[in-house]
Amino acid sequence: MNEIKLFSPATVANVSCGFDVMGFCLDNVGDEMVVRKIDKKGIFISRVEGFNLPKEAELNVAGVSALAMYDALDVDFGFEIEIYKNIKPGSGIGSSAASAVGSVFGMNELIGRPFNKTQLTEFALKGEALASKCEHADNLAPALFGGFTLVKSVAPLQILEIPSPDDLYATIIHPQIEIKTSESRAILPNKVPLSKAITQWANLGSLVHALHTSNYDLIKSALTDVVVEPYRSKLIPLFTEVKQASLNAGALGAGISGSGPSIFALSKGLEQANKIKEAMLGVYANSDIDFDIHISKINTEGVKIIA
Ligand code: ADP
Repeated sequence: MNEIKLFSPATVANVSCGFDVMGFCLDNVGDEMVVRKIDKKGIFISRVEGFNLPKEAELNVAGVSALAMYDALDVDFGFEIEIYKNIKPGSGIGSSAASAVGSVFGMNELIGRPFNKTQLTEFALKGEALASKCEHADNLAPALFGGFTLVKSVAPLQILEIPSPDDLYATIIHPQIEIKTSESRAILPNKVPLSKAITQWANLGSLVHALHTSNYDLIKSALTDVVVEPYRSKLIPLFTEVKQASLNAGALGAGISGSGPSIFALSKGLEQANKIKEAMLGVYANSDIDFDIHISKINTEGVKIIA
């Protein structure tokens, strides 16, 4: 096997109370990539379609993560990468993470899987750092492992896989404005009052327990973010209205996806997810901002070979 085509999924990071540690994987939104073994040594990005992104390996997250892995190999061949982007960069649903993960996953498959998924995340972290100026794995881990993940620590890298209830769906609205991860980090406070920290870690612990026990009521009461959302939501037009409309339509919770501008809502069942879609649409239809809305079951598989 000298070439594979893969689907690299979009992901939702943070998930309200899990800032920088929690994430989940979507199953019908994502990029496609082709990774190919070539005689020439090195990493080459031969094609980028969908969005205008650099082809120089050192300037593209897919290339940076591939180079990190390539440096750890001692081989007399190289790799060529084609990227077919569907996820708009800066959309808040892990555009850069999908690219960072796809290249190293593909290379690993082509050389007989010498690395495990945690090691692949280590390489992908180098790519993600190019986009967000710091190494964080909350989009990378769900893209590689699938399902819900919790990044227990980055150094050493420790990723926990959290089960997801069968009937859990996400509805995501993506307003077509760009918020850079680096910008939305800058508006966060350096200190968190102890009372808020207590609420936040009680909610995160409860969310993890709720996912393990398929307790939808507990998911609902745990999906609250008292630390980050009050600041970041100001960057997202109509955030409060979308959140309230989603909750009125039966969402278990709603919050900022990653660093925004996308907003996610979780719900029990597809029918409910569709109602939330209608509610989100009702809010944004009257604005002058373009948007799209996705409904997705939680993808428990993560990045995968499609050809
Ligand atoms: P997201 O959360 O959607 O990944 P980020 O702001 O973290 O958004 O990353 C997007 C930034 O990374 C953009 O500035 C983009 O130009 C840069 N970038 C470099 N290579 C890629 C790539 N292959 N895919 C997406 N973004 C990339």
